[in-house]
Amino acid sequence: MKLNNIILLDRDPKSRWTVEYNANTIDSILPSTDGELRSGPSSPEPSEETNTGGEPASLLLPALSHPHIHLDKPYLLTTNIQHHPTHAHQTSYPDYTDLTPKTGSFSEALSFTGQAKARYTPADLYLRGSQLIATSLTQGVTSCRAFVELDHVTGTTCLEAAVQLKESFGGKFELQICAFAQDPVFSSDHGEENRRILEDTLLNYAGAVEAVGSTPYVESDREAGLQNIKWAIEMALQHDLHLDFHLDYNLGDSEPMVWDVIRLLNEAEWTSKTKPGKTIVLGHCSRLTMFTNKEMKELATQIHDSGLPIHFLGLPTSDLFMMGRPDDDGEESKGAYRPRGTLQIPSMIRDYGLNGCLGVNNVGNAFTPWGTGDPLALASLGVGIYQAGTSDDAKVLLECVSQGARRAIGLETGGAEERESSGDLLWEGRKGDLLLIKNNEWIGCPGHLGLKVPARQRISVKDVVWDPPEIRLRTVLK
Ligand SMILES: [Zn+2]
Repeated sequence: MKLNNIILLDRDPKSRWTVEYNANTIDSILPSTDGELRSGPSSPEPSEETNTGGEPASLLLPALSHPHIHLDKPYLLTTNIQHHPTHAHQTSYPDYTDLTPKTGSFSEALSFTGQAKARYTPADLYLRGSQLIATSLTQGVTSCRAFVELDHVTGTTCLEAAVQLKESFGGKFELQICAFAQDPVFSSDHGEENRRILEDTLLNYAGAVEAVGSTPYVESDREAGLQNIKWAIEMALQHDLHLDFHLDYNLGDSEPMVWDVIRLLNEAEWTSKTKPGKTIVLGHCSRLTMFTNKEMKELATQIHDSGLPIHFLGLPTSDLFMMGRPDDDGEESKGAYRPRGTLQIPSMIRDYGLNGCLGVNNVGNAFTPWGTGDPLALASLGVGIYQAGTSDDAKVLLECVSQGARRAIGLETGGAEERESSGDLLWEGRKGDLLLIKNNEWIGCPGHLGLKVPARQRISVKDVVWDPPEIRLRTVLK
């Protein structure tokens, strides 16, 4: 595949390039003049050619990635299956319309999503999951870590749908399955049963599952939370899996457990016992936003000294919606004071040298009822949330939803770490999917008005992050 008239985000925005991209690899990057079609000995018979000559130049980016997405519970609030033109007659699709939030509270979200879970059917899980993946592909996403819940309610139903989806989208979408304990595994009436289901699944679905995840904060007390962490580490080591925690999702209601995670990983000798390339992701971690600079420094020091491959994951769309809810509406309570605790990811990367990335977590359910799951919209939201308004910030944010996200979940990131650390987004020899973003020549006003005006051209990272291009201008290249 030969791509002409290309703008590369790391290079002079006035320069135009011809990029040869074959078998998922950038073979060459050569200067071209605007719109010129290059062909010759260096590019024998390209099988496919994207000629944008005469048209505005296109931008080339690394493909986007979801480092954290719940594959089994998207679109619960917007499914409306009974009104679907072709599926309406089918009875295998449950109705969730009565579970539309009434108060929008966290406890209601937990309760309604729990009720929804009891209604899942294989066909419904497959349909919503495939819609999520198809939408992601149109947005420029080609890989994800997909969380599927395993417990006494779902059994392995969610996992089986994920395995089926992985097969259906094979080669087109890299779907990494994370076996996930959303519910307690060391407390509550069902803890033991939930744990047994998880453990059996890791044995029975070896090969299909690539990561194990848990939620220590849902356990009834700190002791059970610690057991949860220890158990998940053990499972990851035993089955050669990546490890993923939903952690410290509070703003001061309990002591942070991140220190325990590091301690228990060290005690389990993670760095010497794990296979190369296995990573650890810590998501949410809102409690860390209350750390002093000194505590942040201590955290970074402990992680660097231990050599643990820990990646922090910001999930701002969920955190903004869930964190900082007022306790009550009494005269003395401060209903207007709502700290939206979400990890300050760009600062963690830049100021503390930690690994960080961003994910959308949920799409269209009671935990995150808003948004389309678009990673570029997420990066754009980050400009405001993180007060990250420079061109350099824009590059960090783009990395957080593309190569940084892939690195976090242990996927290949191009096979050239040294080039990545130099800061280039794309280079000759890079392996991996790409995202082509076209520029519009015109902005057309609604048809009947018969007007069009020249479109602004996107030529840099800031243009893409500050003003994410519409979906129809994005094309995934594999
Ligand atoms: Zn999550």
